[in-house]
Amino acid sequence: MANAKPDNCLFCKIIDKTIPADIIFEDNEFIVFKDINPKASMHLLIVPKLHITSLAHTDDSHAELLGKALIKLNKLASDNNYSNGFRTVINTGRGGGQEIDHLHLHLLAGNLRTFG
Ligand code: AMP
Ligand code: ZN
Repeated sequence: MANAKPDNCLFCKIIDKTIPADIIFEDNEFIVFKDINPKASMHLLIVPKLHITSLAHTDDSHAELLGKALIKLNKLASDNNYSNGFRTVINTGRGGGQEIDHLHLHLLAGNLRTFG
């Protein structure tokens, strides 16, 4: 199964609190924490708690979750006074620059540096 949870998923370990992260929001469906290697003044990762390998592994059953992720991202930008502008990135697959195989949205705002 493409979205089976592997034992070694870094973001599942952060969700399970077996490894630490700078968590700034959490509810039943999402965890949000600071990127360990920030590429902007604010660089957050919005991570569904459900292990989905990548955007390429989503289907209609994930529509509500994906919508909520974008709305949550917008609220985080707004709450941090970045409603003027921010960047949203979803890297997908090795060819798309994805390093962690657990779907996540990058929220970058303020002094954006090259992202690639
Ligand atoms: P991606 O290339 O889209 O898979 O992004 C993975 C992101 O996770 C990168 O921006 C990394 O800096 C970040 N990252 C890797 N390990 C950690 C960690 N332990 N805590 C927070 N962010 C991490
Ligand atoms: Zn995972």
